[in-house]
Amino acid sequence: MINSERMIDTFITLVQIDSLSREEGKIAERLVRELKSLEGEVYIDDAGAKVGGDSGNIVARFPGSKSGEPILLSAHMDTVVPGRGIKPIREPDRIRTDGTTILGADDKSGIAIILEVLSVVNERRIPHPPVEVVFTICEEAGLVGAKHLDVRSLKSRHGLVLDSCPADSLFTRGPAADKLEFTVHGLAAHAGVCPEDGLNAIKIAAEAIARMQLGRIDAETTANLGLIQGGSAVNIVPDRVIVRGEARSHDESKLAAQSSHMAECFQAAVRRHRVVKDGREVHAKVEEKIKRDYPRMTLGEDAPIVKWVMAAATKVNVPIACRKTGGGCDANVFNGHGLNVANLGTGMREIHTVHEHLLLNEFQQTARVVLEVLRAA
Ligand SMILES: [Zn+2]
Repeated sequence: MINSERMIDTFITLVQIDSLSREEGKIAERLVRELKSLEGEVYIDDAGAKVGGDSGNIVARFPGSKSGEPILLSAHMDTVVPGRGIKPIREPDRIRTDGTTILGADDKSGIAIILEVLSVVNERRIPHPPVEVVFTICEEAGLVGAKHLDVRSLKSRHGLVLDSCPADSLFTRGPAADKLEFTVHGLAAHAGVCPEDGLNAIKIAAEAIARMQLGRIDAETTANLGLIQGGSAVNIVPDRVIVRGEARSHDESKLAAQSSHMAECFQAAVRRHRVVKDGREVHAKVEEKIKRDYPRMTLGEDAPIVKWVMAAATKVNVPIACRKTGGGCDANVFNGHGLNVANLGTGMREIHTVHEHLLLNEFQQTARVVLEVLRAA
């Protein structure tokens, strides 16, 4: 029932519309047209203005042709770099790029599946419950579009985000994440004339980092420092360095412990450094910002959406298993608002690289599963 050729054409058209984060305006215009032609009630929210982008999130509502719980279907419109001028190349089993850009299957494969499924239920008059479609902006910029969406205005309590790789994987568990920023304040001095009058902020930060547990902490927890900025010249003892990182865990108490461990490493390092200048004792200092980036995704195997997907997989005779991921996606944000939203793979591979490609058999499989979820719901 899925029209594979039409879905592939849609995908190829969509990836050729550039849509880096905050530049989703052109693709949004196109998608609004498509959703309206499918008889959806469509609007764009005000998230674009809030994030400095040229479009907000798209929300489209399709009244059901039978009663039942409304279902949310969601994907994101933005892509990572290098993502301008994408030239998709179709091979028998996949779509790839010419190797100079990403493909944007992340996440236009999800968008193409949603449009195809809606087309099929529309043209074949397949009875289905109400459907809400959300195409977000700025997922790649830190789930920013979803964070600015008025999730409370959605009627759905259950849904699917189509934004992960293998089609046999339904991601039901994902970590919560904290964003961390540490600014170490030292004291500037001439590096050759009087270094003993200074406090080297880079060295202090290095001591903190050297004692910090990073990387894979345990099966549920990871941590990373990813950005460091500081210093102004090689002949100046640096008085300031900023270190930014993150911590993630499937377990809230482990996440709290990891974030405070990272902060304590900086606190201990600054305590070890002081200097007397002009008869006054100057201490190194650290300023910390620890902020929740996004909440956990924790769906049980008995969550209705999980059961519906499993039943659909059985019906179309494909294997799907529940899995956990170390990544975050818009589904985390929806779940944080109390919705039950899982993330189903679409067949995309090697995402965020110029080797990104889309496996067509998996792409078609997910479309069949999603269609069956709507039909059976
Ligand atoms: Zn994505």
